[in-house]
Amino acid sequence: MKTINTIDFKGKKAIIRVDFNVPLDENFKVTDATRIEAAKPTIDKILKDGGSVILMSHLGRPKGKEEKYSLKHIIDKVSEVLGKEILFADDCIGEEAHSKSSNLQPNQILLLENLRFYSEEEAGDEEFAKKLASLGDIYVNDAFGTAHRAHASTTIIANYFPNDKYFGFLLGKEIESINKVLNESVKPVTAILGGSKVSSKITIIENILDKIDHMIIGGGMTFTFIKALGGNIGNSICEDDKMELALEILKQAKEKGVQIHLPVDAVIADSFSNDAKTQIIDVTKIPEGWQGLDAGPKSLELFEEVILKSKTILWNGPVGVFEMPSFANGTIKVGEYIVAATKNGAFSLVGGGDSVSAVKQFGFEDQVSYVSTGGGAMLEMLEGKNLPGIQAIIQ
Ligand code: AMP
Repeated sequence: MKTINTIDFKGKKAIIRVDFNVPLDENFKVTDATRIEAAKPTIDKILKDGGSVILMSHLGRPKGKEEKYSLKHIIDKVSEVLGKEILFADDCIGEEAHSKSSNLQPNQILLLENLRFYSEEEAGDEEFAKKLASLGDIYVNDAFGTAHRAHASTTIIANYFPNDKYFGFLLGKEIESINKVLNESVKPVTAILGGSKVSSKITIIENILDKIDHMIIGGGMTFTFIKALGGNIGNSICEDDKMELALEILKQAKEKGVQIHLPVDAVIADSFSNDAKTQIIDVTKIPEGWQGLDAGPKSLELFEEVILKSKTILWNGPVGVFEMPSFANGTIKVGEYIVAATKNGAFSLVGGGDSVSAVKQFGFEDQVSYVSTGGGAMLEMLEGKNLPGIQAIIQ
C-alpha cells in the first residue's frame, strides 16, 4: 500500500487532506477533537522528517463563504493537539494561500480555510484541484470519512501528483482493517449485523456472504426475517416489502454455507419508550400491542457462543435500541463478547454509524481491534464498492 511510511519528507511540502469536520458549540469551541487527534501521527511523521505541512479540510455544509463554518474557529484546538503554532490562510486557494505555502519552512504547519467555501470542491472541479495541488510537493490523503466522494481535494487533486501521492496513516489503517475482514480474514469469520432496517444493510449482506462463515442478525431488522418465516412479531418494526428479500438472503446463505443466527427471544415493550412495560418472550410469539426492542437472554447465549469461537469479527449495527437504557443490554453484551474474543486473538472491526457510537458510549473503543472513523465510506467499502479517494491514490 502506498502509505507515507517509506517516504522521507525532508525539505518537502506535503498537502494533506484531513477530516477536521469537528463539532463546535455555540461559542465556536471544538467539543470533540477526535478527528484532529486521528490525523496527528501523519502530521508528526512529516514534520519529524523535516518537511512542512499544508492542511486542507471541509467543515460542515456551508453555502458559499459562511463565517460560522470558518476553519479559523479550530486553529487553537489544532495547535493544542499538535503542540505547535498553526499558520492560517483565509482562503484555500489564491494569493494568500500561495504566498503562505511558498514561504512555509520545514516543521511549520499551514491550515487552509474551508474547502467547501467553493462549490468547486464538491463538484470535483479540475481547475480548483489544480490550484490546490500547486501549493504542495506531495499529496497525502488521510481523510477516510470523505474517501467515498470524488471531490476536488479527495480525488481529483491526486491527478496532479502522479508519482507523489500517498495514504496517511489513518486512511492506511482503515483500508488495512477492512481488508483484514473482507479479503485476508482468518476463519471463522462472523459478521454481526443489527440496526433498524434490512433495506439499509442489504448491499452489505450480499457483498459479505461469500466472505463469512457466520452471520448474526440483530436489532430491528430481525423482525422482517421472523415475520417472513411465519412468526408473530406484534408491533415490532418490519419492512413488509423486504420479506421476500429476507427469505432470499436465508436461501443464499444456506447455499454458500453461511450459518445465520437469528434471535430466539426478545425483550418486548408495550411502547417505544424507556419506561414501557417489558417482558421477555419467544421472538416468534410477540403479542399485538408489543414490540421487540432488544435481544433476549437465550439469543445472547447463542450469540456469545458464535462470537467467542470467531477469529475475525465485523460489527455493524446495534442489536437493540441501545439509546434507551432499558434496551441497551443486548448491545452491551455483544460488545463484551467481542472484547473477550479480541482478547483471545480475534481481529474485530466495528464500523458504520450506530455501532461506533455504541462502543464509544459503553467504553469498548480501546478493547476491540479497530473502530472505523468513516461512516459512509466504511459502509461503501463493506458493500464492495471502490472508493474514488482510494482509487485515486493506487492508480
Ligand atoms: P441503523 O442506522 O440502520 O444501523 O439503525 C440503528 C438504529 O436501530 C439505532 O438507533 C437503534 O435504536 C435502532 N434499533 C435497534 N434495534 C431496534 C429495534 N428492535 N426496534 C427499533 N429500532 C431498533
